[in-house]
Amino acid sequence: MSRSKKTSSSVTKLYGILNDNPCISKHTTFISNSNTNNYQNICNKGDLIHKLANEIIKKSYPISNLDKKLDEYLNQYNNIKLTPFELLEAKNFLTSHIYNSYKDYECKKTEEPISFSNGLINGQIDLIINDKIIVDYKTGKIDKSNIEKYSFQLKIYSAIYSTKIESAYILQLNGMKHHVNLDGSNELLSSLKNKIDTINKTKEFTYNASSQNCQYCQYQKKCDTFWRAVKNEKDEFFERFLLGQITLIQNFPLGRKKIHLATGEKIIVDKKYTNKILGINEGDSYKFINVYKKEDKKYQFGAYSEKIKI
Ligand code: SF4
Repeated sequence: MSRSKKTSSSVTKLYGILNDNPCISKHTTFISNSNTNNYQNICNKGDLIHKLANEIIKKSYPISNLDKKLDEYLNQYNNIKLTPFELLEAKNFLTSHIYNSYKDYECKKTEEPISFSNGLINGQIDLIINDKIIVDYKTGKIDKSNIEKYSFQLKIYSAIYSTKIESAYILQLNGMKHHVNLDGSNELLSSLKNKIDTINKTKEFTYNASSQNCQYCQYQKKCDTFWRAVKNEKDEFFERFLLGQITLIQNFPLGRKKIHLATGEKIIVDKKYTNKILGINEGDSYKFINVYKKEDKKYQFGAYSEKIKI
């Protein structure tokens, strides 16, 4: 899983716990699960930019070599494609907002690992300046829906790192800085720890199905609450997971199939994926997982789709 997705889902869980919304079925694995990523696994644009920013801060090569380095990495990680605009934005970020902004500071720490309460919370801080300022680079979109969560993350990280941290900000690719108010960070951390301790002691937590909670949860297939949400929630995320009885399987020329469900939904299966539905029969009841939803309710069975018999 990519760095950003994993960090985001971990923060969502922590955030959920603090807000008494703790559907964290993975809490026991999560808490011993380090977020630390030493970039052995560069999967996306965000990973690559973090790696380059880290190297520039550490002065691993002269800034005049940035173009060459970028070319080198884009060849090496050839699954990452940057549009001309993204390339320009990345270069501008690395030169103007990383190199020029921080080159004169004496004391800089990068990718500083933090750990709290025997690994209860693990993470890493992108940049720490003079042990007083922490900076978190965000290469994805920042908007009202996630800024609160990211601010929460920085508050927790700053409280874990040191009480000497005076300020924290999120640095976006376009150079915009979002300052995070660190008031109450220590209290936030101890309240979070108390709640996680209680959950771990009692092994009790509330099942709370939502697209945010369930998206990365490994227990989807076995979770009744999840399947109830699939049945009842009008939410694009849950709608991708169809369940029901198969009423008809139609065969079309060129090997295409169409599966009709008792719910009225129809799923199109292209020839290249029909081997994945071998053995399904009219009258069977299935839970279909990860069926792509196209346009207005056109469901398609693709490479990552999966079927589960009820
Ligand atoms: S699938 Fe959703 S509701 Fe079920 S345990 Fe996971 S997060 Fe909770």
